[in-house]
Amino acid sequence: MSLSSPWRADFPAFAAFSESCQTYLDSAATAQKPQAVLDALLDYYAGGAANVHRAQHAPGERATLAFEGARAKIAAWLNAESASQIVFTRGATESLNLLAYGLEVEFRPGEQIVISALEHHANLLPWQQLAQRRNLELVVLPLDAAGDIDLEQAERLISPRTRLLAVSQLSNVLGRWQPLAPLLAMARTQGALTVVDGAQGVVHGRHDLDALGCDFYVFSGHKLYGPDGIGVLYGRSEALSRLHHWQFGGEMVAQADYHSARFRPAPLGFEAGTPAIGTAIGLGAALDYLDGLDGDALAAHEAALHARLLAGLRRFDGLHLLGEPQIALASFVVEGVHNADLSHLLSEQGIAVRAGQHCAMPLLRRLGLPGAVRVSLGLYSEGDDLERFFAALNYALELLR
Ligand code: PMP
Repeated sequence: MSLSSPWRADFPAFAAFSESCQTYLDSAATAQKPQAVLDALLDYYAGGAANVHRAQHAPGERATLAFEGARAKIAAWLNAESASQIVFTRGATESLNLLAYGLEVEFRPGEQIVISALEHHANLLPWQQLAQRRNLELVVLPLDAAGDIDLEQAERLISPRTRLLAVSQLSNVLGRWQPLAPLLAMARTQGALTVVDGAQGVVHGRHDLDALGCDFYVFSGHKLYGPDGIGVLYGRSEALSRLHHWQFGGEMVAQADYHSARFRPAPLGFEAGTPAIGTAIGLGAALDYLDGLDGDALAAHEAALHARLLAGLRRFDGLHLLGEPQIALASFVVEGVHNADLSHLLSEQGIAVRAGQHCAMPLLRRLGLPGAVRVSLGLYSEGDDLERFFAALNYALELLR
């Protein structure tokens, strides 16, 4: 039975792709953009670019309205109480670095930062480096047999010395949702701050951050069908007020003299310099686009792709899935075959997948693997993409084995 996406035609890249790459299966790295996002970018620039929050002139007011409108859309999307809880950054990575610098003075030597064994480098290295700067202990929560953060071990390891917990909502390698609610509760009980890396999770379903109750949540626009160069740091108002400023310059300052200055609170206090105006507007357009889709149809489509992806992969002898993914994303290895050779042969056949360590080197090492191939689908993906992929995989494995 064909499994077509009613939204495919909204994404002009697929027409352009057909020459060089028939099949794009790397959406967890970055997603294609719907025409509505491209239109919003063009509309903003063609209508007259202007800086925000600075000018009284008409183009400046138009830009400010659109930029702040995007902030309000993101707040609504995350069910934040106020748009002032949304800080624009360049992406999830920058949001996490902002936190690691902005919270630095909270820590005293010997205190703990707790992360997990499955973190992306973006949610590992800023904390590792902070731990080195402040002489802190970086505690790594182990995973259970399913590849999820082990709650029994977490209960043991999250301690009164824990000042911060930073964990992924959804693993970019294993495609599994992490048990956030109990983890956040354990951290809260110890009075620790909580950070959720939503870079992958934000793409799959709507999340009510007010209900989730984390202090901070970060994501990138480009995985959520928006432009690159724009990301979000959400914070609870009280948590945001604890952040120290980390980049200095125009617009983040309330009062400046030669030898002293007073800084603005969030969000503008953390958006030094000219922000990414067009791309913020583009991210707002991506949310409008997603809001306009039938959520039930979207969930059903993703579930069908997920089922077909896993069933298809399981038919290959010697192919081992890394865990049991819960979304339409699967990482795998094949006995006797190097992941880079496989992805190369797939690429030669017009199939784009990702191979390597997926910015999670310690996780791959822990799994005893030099790397893995990852296939990740988007709302525009179709059954035919998978059929082409399976045929190409079959051919590649015939050549390699
Ligand atoms: N965390 C996770 C789980 C990710 O998958 C990614 C992107 N691969 C990031 C953080 C970093 O996102 P970005 O590169 O857009 O800053």
